[in-house]
Amino acid sequence: MSDSSNVIDPSKPSIARVYDYLLGGKDYYPVDQEIGDHFKINLPGSVVIATSNREVLVRAVGELAKAGLRQFIDLGSGLPTADNVHQVAQRHAPDAKVVYIDNDPIVLAHGRALLEADDRTVVIQADVRDAKGIREHPDVIRLIDFEQPVAVVFSAILHHLNDDENPADIVRFWTDQIPSGSAVFISHFRSGHNAETEAVEQKLQSTFGRGRWRTDEEIAELFGDLEILEPGIVPVTQWRPEPVTGPTAVRELTVWEQLIVAGLARKP
Ligand code: SAM
Repeated sequence: MSDSSNVIDPSKPSIARVYDYLLGGKDYYPVDQEIGDHFKINLPGSVVIATSNREVLVRAVGELAKAGLRQFIDLGSGLPTADNVHQVAQRHAPDAKVVYIDNDPIVLAHGRALLEADDRTVVIQADVRDAKGIREHPDVIRLIDFEQPVAVVFSAILHHLNDDENPADIVRFWTDQIPSGSAVFISHFRSGHNAETEAVEQKLQSTFGRGRWRTDEEIAELFGDLEILEPGIVPVTQWRPEPVTGPTAVRELTVWEQLIVAGLARKP
């Protein structure tokens, strides 16, 4: 059922490589740069959206590790970048274990070298839509103890699934697998109900056949019955930000900053 081919095709754009381009990485081809530039021109906040999404992921993983979580499953993990989940988690808890999942072969190619830094970190090429297949993957069984709390990370991945791919069912599958005290983190494109976001949604659909901006209510539904923790589902820059003092401490969010939100939930 997956798009997971083992071949890196430089003639077709890839979500992982376009995102890497927006983050200022170097693992992209001209075809990815072309789409990235389209976003930069038509949605000038795309770089802010990408970087602030990475920043909230780092904060959330740090908080989870500080709270005692020692196992992380990062679905749609992307290419290795500045501060990856295992580096953040292991900074707080050296024994933390991380499974990275992505269906793009470039993530496996680069990830094996850069992310599989130790025997507590593994990269698997798989499709998030095949949740059962991932759960039964030998590396997941080897590394993750589902009797102990697990943090399941859906960072900027569920908006790449269309409604008929049932993202809420995928979250529910993982929620059913993990014990009480586990956590689910989601960051997600938020519908701006404006011409700009509609144009980008159309571009994602015409390029990748996927891409769905959702409202706060739709994003809340993805969490199912989980208990959403403070401060709720909010723009990523407002999700437990580092304390800021001085004139920028209180300011209006830009339009762009309002187009991606995050939430962290706990399984009671
Ligand atoms: N999670 C990272 C982050 O937040 O920085 C990367 C987000 S990037 C926008 C989305 C990632 O999801 C890409 O690396 C892409 O290859 C991956 N992806 C998209 N659809 C996927 C699918 N069906 N299964 C697995 N990975 C997928």
